[in-house]
This record gives sequence, structure tokens and C-alpha cells, in this order.
Amino acid sequence: MTNPVSICVIGSGYVGLVASVCFAEMGHRVTCVDNDAAKVATLQAGGVPIYEDHLPELLARHLNKGVTFTTDLAAAVTRSEAVFIAVGTPQGDTGAADLSFVEAVVSEIARAVSSYKVIVEKSTVPVYTNEWISRVLHRHGVEPSSFDVVSNPEFLREGTAVIDFLHPDRIVVGANTERAAEVLERIYAPLTTGSYYTQPNALPGDCSAQHPAKLLVTSAQSSEIIKHASNAFLALKISFINAVANLAESVDADIEDIAAGMGLDSRIGPKFLRAGLGYGGSCFPKDVAAFHWVAQQQGVDFQLLEEVRKINETQKEIFFNKVRAALWTLRGKRLAALGLAFKGDTDDIRESPAIDIVKKLLESGASISAYDPAGMERAQAILPPSAKLTYAADAYEAAKDADALLILTDWKEFAHLDLVRLNQALKFPIVIDGRNLYKPREMQERGFTYVSVGRPASYQAQQGKPRKLGLS
Ligand code: NAD
Repeated sequence: MTNPVSICVIGSGYVGLVASVCFAEMGHRVTCVDNDAAKVATLQAGGVPIYEDHLPELLARHLNKGVTFTTDLAAAVTRSEAVFIAVGTPQGDTGAADLSFVEAVVSEIARAVSSYKVIVEKSTVPVYTNEWISRVLHRHGVEPSSFDVVSNPEFLREGTAVIDFLHPDRIVVGANTERAAEVLERIYAPLTTGSYYTQPNALPGDCSAQHPAKLLVTSAQSSEIIKHASNAFLALKISFINAVANLAESVDADIEDIAAGMGLDSRIGPKFLRAGLGYGGSCFPKDVAAFHWVAQQQGVDFQLLEEVRKINETQKEIFFNKVRAALWTLRGKRLAALGLAFKGDTDDIRESPAIDIVKKLLESGASISAYDPAGMERAQAILPPSAKLTYAADAYEAAKDADALLILTDWKEFAHLDLVRLNQALKFPIVIDGRNLYKPREMQERGFTYVSVGRPASYQAQQGKPRKLGLS
């Protein structure tokens, strides 16, 4: 590494922590700041507060060498050339992003600027946030020549965040000055020149010295929109396939075959064409709402985004109705719930469809035995164990004596259950799969009644298909 940059990252959440550790892995000197003193203490002691592949390994490699953790924002800003803002931008009451964390951080940065800094929006923010940040800095008396504001949205996915960061599909830099763009180009040079991929212990992924990462420079406004539009488009793909799944189900077609047939078209592609319980997490729901709000503010009719949201909400109701239709009544039923995280390979339960469904089933009088490989600790903080809700040590313990098993999150281990053991554990061999992890015919052959999304249900021979009595 020939050109290390001193970097401050504010926020040590999924994005800030991954960015900090990966920048250190790329050879930079990083100070990561958080105002959560307990989190900082954990990180200083080498603990990793989130579940993310490769993070423990990289943190151990760079702690107190390439990366340090602190609560002292002013000191970290003072010694850094680039200051990345990676705090949360949750959904506000109107659907707009709540930028109060960003504003608070910018005010603190303003008090610490003593030489030229590039302030980088890493958080997902609406268009023109770069101008607001500049305005706040001016109001606090920072000279315009002392800073530039750059948009550098983050596209990592939880669960594969470290590899996504080091092997990105693209790096987008929205800079309105050459000087600021040059700093960002220097920061990402190990990935864009490919030098990182030749290091002996570089983490492997899709990029290589021959095919290094691509960096696109745009205006700050375009970059801000690229992030919102990308997330909205991915959410649209999910809602689209879910709407097609509902149609497929009503005509006994198979959504998995349909998605395969569509995805083979290179213009469409197979990714994000997985029918299921809809999208969740800390990004898609709020980013679709925030993007819609931005469009409304500009007088642009982008009703499509409202439809995307509605389909997503309906998808959970449809699944709930399937559970009810399979079990007749819910009061007093014992259900095994596999999955609480919003998707597999993460402990993040924010806006998780699984959590919404568990809550609704509890309200309907069912009792639940839940299991998730990583999300149970976080789930217990919002859904404490009770007489109606218990947390199991594994899928089979959850299934023990249950009237049915529900698959709510697409963890890989849920796709490879021991079906004989599962069948023995359940009181009735009924599986209602919100993630299409099994093949209906196989489940039928293994003695299960199997209900999934966008595919005909298959019924255990002696149980038979329930008559449609307007239950759903
Ligand atoms: P997060 O909630 O996990 O982390 C935010 C961190 O910021 C927390 O640790 C919090 O303590 C800290 N913080 C808040 N105010 C602070 C302050 N004044 N000073 C110092 N630290 C402060 O959030 P996240 O998931 O990492 O998301 C951050 C941003 O990145 C959001 O805008 C999000 O939309 C965007 N993003 C998230 C993902 C993702 O997969 N999570 C992906 C791409 C983009």
C-alpha cells in the first residue's frame, strides 16, 4: 500500500464497522467513532457486536493497527483527511428519511474542522443532502475552502457485507469538485487498481487484479439518487415476482419455474426473483418510502413505489391466511417458527417479515416456539420469552409437538433439515414454507403436507386437501 489515507468513520453499525475494518484491510489508517460507549468498549476489546462473516477475522487482524475505536469525534475528525458519515437514517413519520442523526454529526464535525476535509455521505440519504450538509457547515462558520461534501453510497448486503465491500459491483462517487473526487479515488485505489487482490491474504471474491472494481464518478445529486433508485428497483423486483407468485398459485402454476424462465433472460437476470414473504430489513422499506417522498416533493408522480410497498405488505397477510387455512383455527395451536432475521446470514431483525408474522400469530392466540441461528438475542429484546413464546436451541426442538412448522427466513440450514427427524418431532407433519426452500413433490413423498408461495400446495395422503370455505 503506497498511499494510505487517514479516515474517520462515524457510526459503527453494519455499514460503519464494515467500512472501517475494510478500509484498514485496504491499508488506510482508520478511526471509527460511535456515541454508544458500550459498543465502542466492546470493539476496543476485540468483540464484534454484529453477526457478519469475516468481520471477526479482519477486526483481529487490524485492531489497534489499521483501525481504532473511540467516542471522541472531534479528535478523530481533526486527524483525518476524509470523514465518512455512516449513522442511521431511519424512516420518519411522513415517509421521509429522518436526517437528525446526520445533522447532529455534521454540527459536531463543524466544531472540529481545522484543515481541509472531505465529508462523505456513506449513509443512505435523499437527494440534496449534500447541499444541506454544506449549509450546516457554513452556518457553523466553516470556510467553504475547508471542506467538500461527497456522496459515496454503500451497496453492501448484510450477511455478505465484507466481501461486498472489498469486491463491489461498483463504487459510486458523487463529487462536485475534482479535489474531493481525487481523495475518494485514492481511498478506493487498492480495489480499482487491483493491488489489494494481489496481497497474499486478500479475501477472495469476484474482483481480481485482472478485473478490479469499477469506480463511477457522478455529481453528488446523481449519486444520491443512484442509491435510492437502486434499492427501490430491487424492492420492485421482489414485489413483482411476489405478485406473479400470487397469480401462479391461483392457476396451479409454479413460481419457481416461472422465475427460472424469466431469469434466464439476460435483460432480467435471476437475482431478486425469489418469491416469498416480501422484503424487510433496515434499508428497502425505508428507502422505498424515502424515495417516494423525494419524488412527491419534486412534484413527480411515482405511484409505482406505493404499489411496491402495498404488494410487500399484502404478502405477509397472504402467508398468515395460509397458516390459518392449513390449521383451521389458531387459538391454542402450537407453531414452530424457523427464522426471525429479515433474511438468512444476518442477526438483523429490523423490519423483519418473520417478526411481523410471529407477532400476528401470537395475537391470534397461537403459541410459538421460535428458532433462528443468529437473530434470537435481538428478537428477545422486542419479543421477550413468555408462556406463549419460547426460544428453542435448534429447529428440531422448535418443532417438537408443534401443530405445524413455519419457515420464515431463508437460512441455508433450514433448506437442509433432516426430514425424518422433523417429521417425528412434529405433532402433525405440516410445513408452511414462506421461503420456498423445498420442493412440493419431495415433501409430499416424505409424508408432509406442504404449503409454499406461488406453487400448488401438496397434501399428505391421509390428510387431504381442505375444502375452500372462505377461510383465506
Ligand atoms: P446502524 O443503526 O447499524 O448503525 C448506526 C450507528 O451510528 C450506531 O452504532 C449508532 O450508535 C451510531 N450513531 C448514531 N448517532 C451517532 C453520533 N451522533 N455519533 C456517533 N455515532 C452515532 O445503521 P446501519 O445499518 O449501519 O446503516 C447506516 C446507514 O447506512 C443508513 O443510512 C442505512 O440506510 C445505510 N445502509 C445500510 C445498509 C445495511 O445493510 N445495513 C446497507 C447500505 C446502506
